[in-house]
Amino acid sequence: MINVTKTFLPAQAEYQAILKKAWDTGWMTNRGVLVKELESKLQFYLDTPNIIAMTNGTLPLQIAIKALGLQGEIITTPFSYVATTSSIVWEGCTPVFVDIDPDYLTIDETKIEAAITSNTSAILATHVFGNPCAVEVIEAIAKKHDLKVVYDAAHCFGVTYKGQSLFNFGDVSTCSFHATKLFHTGEGGALFCKPQHFETMYSHHNFGHDGPEAFQSLGINAKMSEPQAAMGLAVLPYMTKILKERKKIVEIYNKAFETSSLKLLKIRVQTNWNYSYYPVIFENESQLLRVKQVLESHSIYPRRYFYPSLNTLPYVKSCSLTVSESVSSRILCLPLFAGLATEDLNEIINIVKEQLL
Ligand SMILES: *Cc1c(COP(=O)(O)O)cnc(C)c1O
Repeated sequence: MINVTKTFLPAQAEYQAILKKAWDTGWMTNRGVLVKELESKLQFYLDTPNIIAMTNGTLPLQIAIKALGLQGEIITTPFSYVATTSSIVWEGCTPVFVDIDPDYLTIDETKIEAAITSNTSAILATHVFGNPCAVEVIEAIAKKHDLKVVYDAAHCFGVTYKGQSLFNFGDVSTCSFHATKLFHTGEGGALFCKPQHFETMYSHHNFGHDGPEAFQSLGINAKMSEPQAAMGLAVLPYMTKILKERKKIVEIYNKAFETSSLKLLKIRVQTNWNYSYYPVIFENESQLLRVKQVLESHSIYPRRYFYPSLNTLPYVKSCSLTVSESVSSRILCLPLFAGLATEDLNEIINIVKEQLL
């Protein structure tokens, strides 16, 4: 069976050797030595100044909305994982969807200003598949209208844009370290922010504690635990090798499909991408469904990322967004992970190509 991704696992002994440090201290959580070590190693590896490790990639989104004091309407993308929209609704705000760019698949920055009202407090956009949003344009719009900017950067581990970490853009960026993501801690995630927001974000992720006997703000429990951090520390040394393998697979896919009728993801210029997903866009949905069915009959399981378009969720005010709805119905992510065998890769390519004829 071949799935869209396969969790990279280090040797069990390597994980256990790191976990031993937690046994030695007797601490399983509450920001023990392993969480602190992981944060400092990620700070160095990602070259980003302010990081808070968290227990998944959704709580940082909710904390960003809460701790920035966002209210009313938040302008967002309909083409993302459900957590982007559900976090807005969960925090009592209203998502206002703006359609996406058909090539980059990120929020269409030229349509943002028309969606701003006196109730708008922020823009929450996703760097889809690690492809950066038009961050400069979004920053200028936010400045002009006094809005906060939050990026769901769940897919952006290791991505740099114009020479710096993509996590450095926006007031807050969030990442997921879920087992299906490029870099993982089983479940896990992180929040990155501008220095002026660090203290409030930190406080919010730990019940609002200000020392053991005082509280400085409302808070929740989003702390990463020691076993999670141990997994991250065991996986991190392999990232260079993982990225190299993924790049090779992406290049083979690209070569196979460049002259086909499939539309491929266009990466924004000056991006050092992370090969996190391999989406292909079919001419129509029936073609996608046919390819998916044939792949599944060969025990190959691609995923419809992202489907459905989030403006069609049952708990949001419905609106019509032609680009996002069209792309969502036609996009399929093909298997991509370190360790994908060449013969399996060739089988996937051959099946897809046969169905396109
Ligand atoms: C995975 C993902 C999340 C949620 O992360 P979890 O760690 O699973 O909570 C949020 N947004 C996007 C775009 C994602 O892909």
